[in-house]
Amino acid sequence: MNLSTHRLTVGLACLALMLVPLLASPFYVTLLNFIGIAALVALGLVLMTGLGGLTSFGQAAFVGIGAYATAWFTLTTGLSPWLGLLLALSATGVIAACLGAATLRLGGHFLPLSTIAWGFAIYFLFPEIPGFGQHDGLKDIPAISIAGFSFAENRRVFYVIWLFLGAAIWLVSNLLNSRQGRAIRSLRGGAVMLASLGVSLFRVRLTIFVIAALLAGLGGWLYAHMTRFVSPSPFEIRPSIEFLLMALAGGSASVYGAVMGAGLVVLLKNWIQDILPHLTTNAGQLEIVAYSVMLVLLLQYARGGLMSLILRAFPQREPVRPAASHGLPHRAPPPAGTPLLEIVGATKRFGGLVAVNDVSFGMQSGEILGLIGPNGAGKSTMFNLITGALPSDGGSFRFMGEEITNLSQARIAGLGIARTFQHVKLRPGMTLLDNVLMGTYLRTSTGFLGGALRLDRVEEATATREALDQLARVGLADQAYEKAGNLALGHQRVLEVARALASDPILLVLDEPAAGLRKGEKEALARQLRELRDQGMSILLVEHDMEFVMGLVDRLVVMNFGSKLMEGTPEAARSNPLVQEAYLGGQA
Ligand code: ADP
Ligand code: MG
Repeated sequence: MNLSTHRLTVGLACLALMLVPLLASPFYVTLLNFIGIAALVALGLVLMTGLGGLTSFGQAAFVGIGAYATAWFTLTTGLSPWLGLLLALSATGVIAACLGAATLRLGGHFLPLSTIAWGFAIYFLFPEIPGFGQHDGLKDIPAISIAGFSFAENRRVFYVIWLFLGAAIWLVSNLLNSRQGRAIRSLRGGAVMLASLGVSLFRVRLTIFVIAALLAGLGGWLYAHMTRFVSPSPFEIRPSIEFLLMALAGGSASVYGAVMGAGLVVLLKNWIQDILPHLTTNAGQLEIVAYSVMLVLLLQYARGGLMSLILRAFPQREPVRPAASHGLPHRAPPPAGTPLLEIVGATKRFGGLVAVNDVSFGMQSGEILGLIGPNGAGKSTMFNLITGALPSDGGSFRFMGEEITNLSQARIAGLGIARTFQHVKLRPGMTLLDNVLMGTYLRTSTGFLGGALRLDRVEEATATREALDQLARVGLADQAYEKAGNLALGHQRVLEVARALASDPILLVLDEPAAGLRKGEKEALARQLRELRDQGMSILLVEHDMEFVMGLVDRLVVMNFGSKLMEGTPEAARSNPLVQEAYLGGQA
């Protein structure tokens, strides 16, 4: 499916939708209204759970906050539901920001568990709040109207609901194609890589949490003014699970998954509620069993959701992204020979083990320095200390004359140190271009709102040019629109180098770039690194493979058991008996 057929499909679907209220029976119009509202909530969950990996069992509580806020407000003040919308969104947003700030740092299963807890808490709170009508709820809520034109009828409110849903889909898909969207799509699969590119994980998580809550709050507002009645029961844990089911059923492969999932679950629910009473007197309980079975089947057979099945049947070509004529501005590399890195007495302990023991060395601009040693010597740990991925237990680190000891990874990356990983950390489902664009994160500035509103076109085109240039530099330009996961390991490693280069570093630090490469790939990599050095790049190479570094580096620092053995030229290292004993005689 290319861009124009995509637009045509969406256009025809919109046209068909506009005709629905004129042609369909009132029953189906109402059903579609519920699907539209549910799709808004599910869209938030696609963003937050499907893409961001943050599971929420409490999303219906946010729908409830939106619904109750506007119901209470419009009933007590008699003012317009549109002012109620402002209140509903503010209340949901503020409460979500507070809940998120308190719970999003929790790891593992604690976050989903805490969402169950506050989901219940909010649900039990509704009937207790004065003015919220206790368990009877609030009735006679006014309908939405614009300049005297009332949307009280289901056939009319249909257009309001689906217009809001369309707008939400447009905003969310813009966001996903933007700078912050790449960060969102990268959330699953490890935090270290994102942090090394300057992405604040907590901020991205909190923002998608609040966006999801706002979409739920908007759903609540529509719900309150459509049904004209709110009571606590639609906002308990069971509807929360249904919303989650919708997001999972639709899948995160596309934002339209939210609509598919909502449609599927609402229709199935309707169908189940129709037939179960014929089969049993205990339909309520059996309904939950039916959902559980569906959930298990989904997770078993269609992990990626319906949309991924559809996209598999109609393979999509990645749209070519517009690229500007110039890339991003580059910083001038310091003159060759400038002291770049000064490390004095670096120390790191893991419990009783001293992984890095009082190591000192320096490097100058324009050189390739190799940090070598047998397995377990402490090279990767040293590397993590320099890049800020680990806090040090002692010693001083300076970069370009500036103290960087225990600065955050983002700060260190911003100063001009870019890294790759011993175990390649790419996003295999994203294109090469998108992976490299991630590297430009700190050199660009578009926020979530700017991305959602497409205010980032110029910056995106410039960043795209930059990323394509860096891909060309490592020889991968003609595969820019392929998925990174399809590349051979050797190419994945240079893709990581391209991503690092896209951050415009002064110092490139590479952790075992030759590991797992075949001989030809190693030679190609060495050639590319030499070329980079000749272009003014300084490179610190952590390497286990002695042969690979010998012909490549200007100088070597050799480590063993956490301590520095020696520092000098490759020839000096080769003839040093200590090195021979530790290294060549050892496991290497
Ligand atoms: P190298 O990269 O030179 O192979 P590392 O820096 O990975 O060595 O490891 C140095 C030593 O520190 C090893 O003994 C390793 O087991 C230990 N080590 C590394 N990381 C950790 C950690 N996070 N916790 C505990 N021990 C660690
Ligand atoms: Mg290592």
